[in-house]
Amino acid sequence: MNNIITSQQPYVAELTKDVTTTARCLFCKAPLRHTFVDLGMSPLCESYRTKEQLNQMEPFYPLHVKVCDNCFLVQLEQYVSAEHIFSEYAYFSSFSDSWLKHSSKYVELISNRFNLDGRSLVIELASNDGYLLQYFVKKGIPVLGVEPAVNVAKAAEQKGVPTLVKFFGRQTSLEMVAGGRLADLVIGNNVLAQVPDINDFVAGIRLILKPGGVATLEFPHLMRLMQENQYDTIYHEHFSYFSLLTVEKIFAAHGLILFDVDEIPTHGGSLRIYLKHIEDSSEPVTPAVTNLRERELAAGLNGLMAYNAFSEQVMESKRKLLELLIRLRSEGKRVAGYGAPGKGNTLLNYCGIRADFIEFTVDRNPYKQGRFLPGTHVPIYPVEQISNRRPDYILILPWNLKDEIIAQLDYAREWGAKFIVPIPEARILD
Ligand SMILES: [Zn+2]
Repeated sequence: MNNIITSQQPYVAELTKDVTTTARCLFCKAPLRHTFVDLGMSPLCESYRTKEQLNQMEPFYPLHVKVCDNCFLVQLEQYVSAEHIFSEYAYFSSFSDSWLKHSSKYVELISNRFNLDGRSLVIELASNDGYLLQYFVKKGIPVLGVEPAVNVAKAAEQKGVPTLVKFFGRQTSLEMVAGGRLADLVIGNNVLAQVPDINDFVAGIRLILKPGGVATLEFPHLMRLMQENQYDTIYHEHFSYFSLLTVEKIFAAHGLILFDVDEIPTHGGSLRIYLKHIEDSSEPVTPAVTNLRERELAAGLNGLMAYNAFSEQVMESKRKLLELLIRLRSEGKRVAGYGAPGKGNTLLNYCGIRADFIEFTVDRNPYKQGRFLPGTHVPIYPVEQISNRRPDYILILPWNLKDEIIAQLDYAREWGAKFIVPIPEARILD
């Protein structure tokens, strides 16, 4: 009898421990007690498999997203180290035409608005393959990229974009400041979400920003993610998901004030925020900031209820996509994918869609061609395979680029192929 009791005690203690050792908020350190959405187990979305790897074990990690009930930062616990994820990154920004167009437009706009010239310095954090800084170089504006992935940094140097191969944070910025490198403009596009220690990163921005300097950061807008079911933009590489309300608090805590915001269409709806030192009174806070703040409050982003409703919405979106694919496959239709983006991998793994539903996918990035999607092992071919194999339906995985892709694949209409987008809910396009 005694034995039974003692053998059960450790088990109970273990359970209690699980409940009490809750993870803490990346920003405010409050315990994380609330689920935003649980997408189950998924491989790292950029870990494309080679043929040899198909017969090996493949690591899967939880995609369980929480929301902080104190600051409402939506976040993913860090299951994999950032070094592991980002030191050989397969994402080359320059492979998307619309992204390049977006970047060159930004460079025009920002250099005019803030009078950048040959005496200025533009520093971009996570500068990737130089897709953006190359346009400043063309205008004769000095630049410096900071990029942790060796292979993409090399591609940037080849474009004439000087690049520091490092993770950015307080330490790196202190070294840059010591080397006399203060920025008139700091840019961070699609990097804030990927930062494992957000306080360290934001503190670093403040350090390298000149007294009259401006920082602009772009990131997917949480309100759009929630309103449009964009759960596939959740992956292990993205630790944080921001509303304006929360991001404002984070920067304010580090002495930076958010004075303007643009709502831009990239990645299904992003924000571009403008920041300056709190002591700098040169730019008034624009009505765009007040207006968006009010819309977020109206959407309930300052309370738990809105966040709690998201899970059910996501499950319904999954059921709709599976219903459509099951129907098409039952009718004997052939379905292919287009694209092999990170978001596609979250979607396919969460929905359990493998080569039984989509025969293959295609991608313009030669790095991915000949490899297989992580987890689902759908083969990735060059784009020409669409015309060789003539599928009846093409599931567009990077749905945010659907107009560009449909225009590129116009020839597929010759054999009557139709396009499907999976998000916000599965739909055949006319
Ligand atoms: Zn928090």
